[in-house]
This record gives sequence, C-alpha cells and structure tokens, in this order.
Amino acid sequence: MNDAAISVSGLRKTYGEVHAVDGLDLEIRRGEVFALLGPNGAGKSTTVEILEGFRKRTAGEVEVLGQDPQRADRRFRERIGVMLQNTSGRSFLTARESLHHAAKLYPRPRDVDETLAAVGLEEKANVKPQLLSGGQRRRLDVALAVIGRPELIFLDEPTTGFDPEARRQFWRLIESLTEGGTTIVLTTHYLDEADYLAHRIGIIARGSLVALDTPAGLRARAKAAHVTWLEGGEAREHATSEPSAFLRDLLARHDGEVERLEVRHPSLEDVYLDLVGLGGVATSESTGAAPADAEEATA
Ligand code: ADP
Ligand code: MG
Repeated sequence: MNDAAISVSGLRKTYGEVHAVDGLDLEIRRGEVFALLGPNGAGKSTTVEILEGFRKRTAGEVEVLGQDPQRADRRFRERIGVMLQNTSGRSFLTARESLHHAAKLYPRPRDVDETLAAVGLEEKANVKPQLLSGGQRRRLDVALAVIGRPELIFLDEPTTGFDPEARRQFWRLIESLTEGGTTIVLTTHYLDEADYLAHRIGIIARGSLVALDTPAGLRARAKAAHVTWLEGGEAREHATSEPSAFLRDLLARHDGEVERLEVRHPSLEDVYLDLVGLGGVATSESTGAAPADAEEATA
C-alpha cells in the first residue's frame, strides 16, 4: 500500500431526492489529522459513515486502509476506531466495564485504566453512562474509539457539548495519539479545533468539497484586513490588502492621532463563512464557534 489511508473518488450518496454526497474526491494520508468542516446537512456524517463501512454508497470509489469498507471484514473493524455523532449512552455496564468489554474485541488493546485516565474519567470508572454528563459521555465514546489501538480513528463531532477545559484535554489526547502515528479523521463545528489539531482541513458544502488546504493555507486566502477607527465621533471602516500603507496615510491625514484605531485580520472563520456561502462578513469576532451550532440539537 501507498501512504494513503483513505482515497475517495467520485463518491455519491443519495437518499431519495437528496444528494447528501455529490461527487466527493479526497485523499487522506497515513498519520494525518484531517478535519472535515461544513454546515449542518453538508454530508459530513454520511461521508464518514461510508468510510467506516456503516453506510452503502450510491456511486464512486472508496478505499480505506487498502480495503473497500463496504466489504469490510472483522480484520478491517479491528484496525479502525469509530465515534459516531450520536450514541445512545444507555448501558448496564459501567465505564470501566464497557471498556473491558470492548477491549476483548481487539488483538492488542490499550490498558483500560490508562485509557480512562487519558480521557479524564478515572473518577467515573464505576459509573454507568446514563449518570455521566454529556461531555463525560463523549469522553467515554472517545475511550471506546481508541481502546483497540486502531490505526485509523473516525470522530464525528467529538467535542460538541464539551466545556472549554474538556476540549483542551481532548486536544491533548488527540495529540498524543498522533505522536504514535494514528490517522485521525474528525468532523467539527469548531474552527479553532480544526485549526489547532488538523494538518489539513476539508470544507464540504452541499455534498462536495469547496476547499482543501492546511489551516495556514486557508487563512492566507483571506483577502483583506479591516481597519476601523473613529472620526469626528463617527465609526469608520476600511478593507485593504495593504494595511501598513493605509495606516501610514490615515495617520498622516490626522497628524498622527487616530481615535480607537484597530486593525483586524480575517479569521479562519471569515474564510470558512465565505467558502460555504454565508460570508461577505468581516464583523464577527473569531470565537471559534460556527453559527450552525445552535441548530445542532435538533439536527
Ligand atoms: P452533516 O453530518 O454534514 O450534518 P449528514 O451527512 O448527516 O450531514 O446529512 C446530509 C444530508 O443527508 C442532509 O440533508 C440529511 O438530512 C440527509 N440524510 C442524512 N441521513 C439520512 C438518512 N438516513 N435518510 C435520509 N436522508 C438523510
Ligand atoms: Mg453530522
């Protein structure tokens, strides 16, 4: 095998009239952390579940770890770890028991207690999932996804519902996995998460890729810096690709004194919003949370 963990060409999936995935081409390298971003309904989960072998495609070629996931066998299952977007969370087993149970399915599993510690659940080891908070349950899902020491891990919105501290902990866990060479495909609504973790980001809208780049490469697509200031008590704004020259000129015109002068560079979020067709905006501050978030509970 070459160094591609995943190759996808011309992938399509239709549900009746809905073109959920509409001609997707993609290659993900071994050892890469790849983030798939896109608004709700863009086709992220459908794509990921096809790669995992949980859904059948309508058309196209797909190879995951050298195999067609649609014809995946037990051996394939042992090599991948999966965290679905929605898990039931109901179980008669405690967190530790669930992990023990899952570990038995793999030839070379991780140590259960070490894994519990890595996701910050050691104190909840003897608790059943229905008594965990939403974020804690997601951490158990992460633990279940990594317990088999998979070569390739799929994480569908792993940190939705996490508090900021839990997200940082999760990021560290992902970093430690990638140091061991694990390939990771994650979907997220958090731009800062993709920026921090991913080697490359694929942005998907209406079932196909609208951008595929490194976080830095995406950020570099932003065209203009935005300069704002007050003039005679009135707010002024100017977009420019040469902020230094503009500022020199502005300051010269005002004898070197400009009130409330600010220069803001477009964030990854601005670029993202432009790419998925919600942009034209340079007003939002970069908070990391994409606007689609609020809908997620009902999606
Ligand atoms: P995302 O994960 O990016 O939010 P999905 O892959 O879940 O998007 O959904 C893509 C599109 O396919 C949406 O329009 C969604 O309503 C539709 N869809 C997803 N799963 C099914 C299904 N099992 N049956 C019918 N339509 C579906
Ligand atoms: Mg989804």
